[in-house]
Amino acid sequence: MPTVVNKAKTNKETAENYISQVFEMIKKRNPNEIEFHQAVKEIFDSLVPVFEKHSTYMEHSILERISEPERVISFRVPWVDDEGKVRVNRGFRVQFNSTIGPYKGGLRFHPSVNASIIKFLGFEQIFKNSLTGLPIGGGKGGADFDPKGKSDGEVMRFTQSFMTELSKHIGPDIDVPAGDIGVGSREIGYMFGQYKKVKRGYEAGILTGKGIGYGGSLTRTEATGYGTVYFVEEMLKDKGLSFNGRTVVVSGSGNVSIYAMEKAAHLGATVVACSDSNGYIFDKNGINVETVRRLKEIERKRISEYVKEHPSAEYHEGCSDIWLTPCDIALPCATQNEIDEKAAKILIANGVKAVGEGANMPSTLRAVEAFQQNEVLFGPAKAVNAGGVAVSALEMSQNSMRLSWSFEEVDSKLKEIMTNIYRNSVEAADKYGHPDNLVVGANIAGFLKVADAMIEQGVI
Ligand code: NDP
Repeated sequence: MPTVVNKAKTNKETAENYISQVFEMIKKRNPNEIEFHQAVKEIFDSLVPVFEKHSTYMEHSILERISEPERVISFRVPWVDDEGKVRVNRGFRVQFNSTIGPYKGGLRFHPSVNASIIKFLGFEQIFKNSLTGLPIGGGKGGADFDPKGKSDGEVMRFTQSFMTELSKHIGPDIDVPAGDIGVGSREIGYMFGQYKKVKRGYEAGILTGKGIGYGGSLTRTEATGYGTVYFVEEMLKDKGLSFNGRTVVVSGSGNVSIYAMEKAAHLGATVVACSDSNGYIFDKNGINVETVRRLKEIERKRISEYVKEHPSAEYHEGCSDIWLTPCDIALPCATQNEIDEKAAKILIANGVKAVGEGANMPSTLRAVEAFQQNEVLFGPAKAVNAGGVAVSALEMSQNSMRLSWSFEEVDSKLKEIMTNIYRNSVEAADKYGHPDNLVVGANIAGFLKVADAMIEQGVI
């Protein structure tokens, strides 16, 4: 039997060597793109057991191909501010992988946006979209524009200029963007209007996250936040736990955060803290989600304003300190790398039982390791927050059929999709020898479908 043991070792070594060689090549080819490297590393590390078992993916150079975007578009976005001054931002669209469907992924408007951030998000999106079980490829885009402090007119002029260029590269069967940080229903509306103006015909399926009156899907606004909680509910259920009676901390106070808080509270949890990029609020009796929604979504104010209306709450300057708040369940729903190893260790010391990533890559690799080593139930972003893009794909279906489904219908499809993602991730983790490791399970389940289809479609 020693030969078998040696063979197994050899296969593992071969897989590890191949993966690390490709990773080194990626770092060399994409210098200084640390977020992109981080996202690639997390996925590649999970794929060792797959490459160990199936040499075919290596023979077809799948990693080299899947980590190189099919197309990266970068463009100038000139616009005029309220003082009449011409301003210039940089726009991006990364069309990463169209093996299983048109490119699909949001647009982010934030001053931190650069090629690395958009590529990390686009890369993650390939696997996330595959996990939904729906026919959508991976893409992402955005601009280094800061909507904060801008007037409605400035946001409109910027967004129109952005779409004038983007419209040359997208289409209902080519690439279908949606919202992300800094891009909500207002920006989607302006972009849809501009697309319609520069193109002929009414193409409802060009963007998702649209207003309900012009082709949007009910439940899309709530989908990422609700989906996050549905996924964590499944994780908890498997261990005989639930949201009921639990204390929850949710970072951010944007689209994902608001609806994660709403659903968690609906399931009987007490959400004690949430944040924005300046600071966080804490209320041991539970945050009033409706006040947060009005302040952030409608009045576009800072979260610090909350305590004026709810004197029992406390406001603390500095958003990263939100993780000092003891809780049973932590849902990071703001941005990438918001939980580092130190924050993870504090959460663990304070008894956290489950972490569900509503935001994209909110935990550093070391933070994830800390959670896993301490048996905290950990749901990775590409599985946990896939509900948003899943309902976006349902919006595309409704647009193609020129009909609309009820809130309840879409919500029940969302729940079913999240349950399936959870089950498929658990099964893949079990099958490849990493039981309970949802990072490995989600990465493998998302990868296999795309990789197999890439092989079937030949070298393209
Ligand atoms: P929003 O713009 O609606 O909200 C983002 C929230 O995070 C705001 O409260 C914002 O605070 C806060 N925030 C942004 N940047 C930082 C930062 N650097 N430090 C601390 N807080 C920050 O975005 P979304 O809710 O749409 O997106 C949140 C996360 O979820 C992102 O990672 C996104 O990629 C991911 N996601 C979103 C999906 C969607 O459907 N919208 C789908 C899947 C993933 P402030 O108000 O001060 O800016």
